[in-house]
Amino acid sequence: MNRDLRPLGPRHLADHELCPHKYYLSALGRAREVAHPVGAPRALHGALVRALQETLVVQAKGPAGVERLLETFEAAFDGTACADTWEEERYRRDGRLILEQYYAGGQLERLGRVEVAVVVSGDLDGQPVYARADVVADVGDAGTVLVTYHSARRTPSPSELQEDLRTGLLQVLAARHWAPGGGSPRPGPFSCEVHALRSGQVLTATKSEEQLEAVRARALDRIERIRYDSVFPTARGSHCRWCRSKPICPAWQERWGPF
Ligand code: SF4
Repeated sequence: MNRDLRPLGPRHLADHELCPHKYYLSALGRAREVAHPVGAPRALHGALVRALQETLVVQAKGPAGVERLLETFEAAFDGTACADTWEEERYRRDGRLILEQYYAGGQLERLGRVEVAVVVSGDLDGQPVYARADVVADVGDAGTVLVTYHSARRTPSPSELQEDLRTGLLQVLAARHWAPGGGSPRPGPFSCEVHALRSGQVLTATKSEEQLEAVRARALDRIERIRYDSVFPTARGSHCRWCRSKPICPAWQERWGPF
């Protein structure tokens, strides 16, 4: 029986759904030990999110132009994650274009009082869980919006967003976390948005009560397996391409050799 009762986040649950062994290696901390490059897409995402978050914080005190956004991106982008200088230049150019388009779309101005990189924690039927929002913003009469940035090439479909664990857990936890009468209440209703940075689309990920119930049930089922299963089998698939545990994964030992 796995008696690890540390809080679980959507990434743990999604990893376990994809491949129980991926979750297992990540939970043991083995994935961090692997000298595996972070990769250009992940470096791009990290730098985009950081640039947007820092600019939103600065903007709350006074105007922050697109130059500030681009400068922060350039400083935050980790070029060592790229395979070579061609790739680095391509990803830097992509990042600048994405931010210029996003800025022109007016989304930074639309968000009012903001907090960035907010972790909301609570429990589901007594099981400790948490979820992270890239930005939490007051949007006047529309209440509070929980923003997640998405930088992958493929924009998530409406059905994927309806079932998305991250925004689902966020919505469930936010209503309790910022409830009236608490330490620092925020105005409801709480809605979730995914900002697809490459397409410039603002996608709604707010779920109905029925959809939230499905997210809760799915999360609890997964938590139970994580807590009580003693075996975490591998599940090979196309997702292995992006798995940072691949060098130490038993399912790929023939290819990589013993770790
Ligand atoms: S490489 Fe594939 S099979 Fe191995 S842990 Fe990662 S996702 Fe699972």
